[in-house]
Amino acid sequence: MADYIIAIDQGTTSSRAIVFDKAGSIISTGQLEHEQIFPKPGWVEHDPMEIWANVREVIGLALAKAELTRHDIAAVGITNQRETAVVWNKKTGQPVYNAIVWQDTRTQDIVDRLAADGGVERFKPIVGLPLATYFSGTKIVWILENVEGAREAAEAGDLLFGTTDSWVLWNLTGGAEHDGVHATDVTNASRTLFMDLETLQWRDDILEVFGVPKSMLPEIKASSEVYGTVASASLLREVPVAGILGDQQAATFGQAAFDTGESKNTYGTGNFLIFNTGTEIVHSKNGLLTTLGYKLGDDAPHYALEGSIAVTGSLIQWLRDNLGFFWSAPEVEALAKSVDDSGGAYFVPAFSGLFAPYWRADARGALVGLTRYVNKAHIARAALEATAFQTREVIDAVNADSGVTLAELKVDGGMTANDLLMQFQADILGVDVVRPVVAETTALGAAYAAGLAVGFWTSLDDLRANWQEDRRWTPNLGEADRERRLRQWKKAVTKTFDWVD
Ligand code: ADP
Repeated sequence: MADYIIAIDQGTTSSRAIVFDKAGSIISTGQLEHEQIFPKPGWVEHDPMEIWANVREVIGLALAKAELTRHDIAAVGITNQRETAVVWNKKTGQPVYNAIVWQDTRTQDIVDRLAADGGVERFKPIVGLPLATYFSGTKIVWILENVEGAREAAEAGDLLFGTTDSWVLWNLTGGAEHDGVHATDVTNASRTLFMDLETLQWRDDILEVFGVPKSMLPEIKASSEVYGTVASASLLREVPVAGILGDQQAATFGQAAFDTGESKNTYGTGNFLIFNTGTEIVHSKNGLLTTLGYKLGDDAPHYALEGSIAVTGSLIQWLRDNLGFFWSAPEVEALAKSVDDSGGAYFVPAFSGLFAPYWRADARGALVGLTRYVNKAHIARAALEATAFQTREVIDAVNADSGVTLAELKVDGGMTANDLLMQFQADILGVDVVRPVVAETTALGAAYAAGLAVGFWTSLDDLRANWQEDRRWTPNLGEADRERRLRQWKKAVTKTFDWVD
């Protein structure tokens, strides 16, 4: 059998292709960023054609770097930015509009309209999610209502919807010309607002309320099964596509957090904590989402509680791009380290409202506690600390919902390269923070799902054995200080409320 698996990680800021070997080690990587399109305040779009072109190119880059061909690749796994909605014409293969990105808040009016009858939690017992701009269902409605001709074309059965996993899968497996496979996995489907958590099928009654034709929706499949093979026009032709997991679930899988009670926290554009609740559906009383963790072939699905935080790494980008604090994100560490603390400043980055555990669409960002003493370095430090405080609040919610206290936190993602942040995270949590050797857990998880489906790996124990600790941060802050800082943070959060009427 071929010796490698390739994972496509279609992320918010870039697309990557990563080749893994059986030990779960990275053999080569191709990566390309795509444009972030901000047409209006609160709007965030991507060009799906640019994304697809980049995916093709990064596959070529990764194969070329390792001097591999398709014959070396046993399967393809896909992981993706979740909730980002693409609607395209199945006859032409052309998107009818740009992809509307998960961070985009333009659908607030649609959310308010749907919530008028029964409140934002009206579908939560069925789908695990509150009505919010975050989820892809509201974005489909926006496209149908605002793109000329879209509703008619959708009703005629010509339009397809997908999150970017489906968009990539459909194109990889043949697209318009060769009848591409239109499918998604349970984890992505669980972010639409349309999937019943118990049956793992689309809910006709909810689709009717949203006014979304069912013919647009992809077939819901397991996270690990063969969906189809790559079409002839690709470097990977005839290789099976055999794993799909939304990025956060993929990271959880890549962290080998397969069992009930295991969790991980990913620090990227936003932060996402996933807590595996096993085969049980747990409804949160503390502002967490109920979502699918993974489903392997015909096995029972695993569920999870999730704490999603909209803005963490993107606050560092904002300091870089909008305020010109530094040229590259990693420079934030040296700047923040040049002072001992945040000088009393707290930065609550509620740029698109607040997600977990507050779910306040009316919130907007606030920088508080300022005095004449505060300088740029203090603000950089407050920005980093915001990530740690937001994570602490999500973990408090997980502890309350699950009734057990998290003993240590497994972490991954771009921001975990920041030592200052990781130490502060351990300090503010009061538990150890641990990072694995392979920090690309998202791509690794997709590779694992694909590899399991084709027998490249045979059991979860194979994968557990691959997990190795790279670094551990231990709390080094007194309890009184921790509680004082947390109290101040919570006060700062309240300053962001009621900003949008
Ligand atoms: P995503 O998968 O969401 O695109 P990544 O895991 O690649 O994100 O992480 C990138 C994010 O992490 C960016 O928002 C960037 O600002 C932030 N980031 C990257 N390196 C650092 C660093 N050393 N310190 C703080 N933030 C960082």
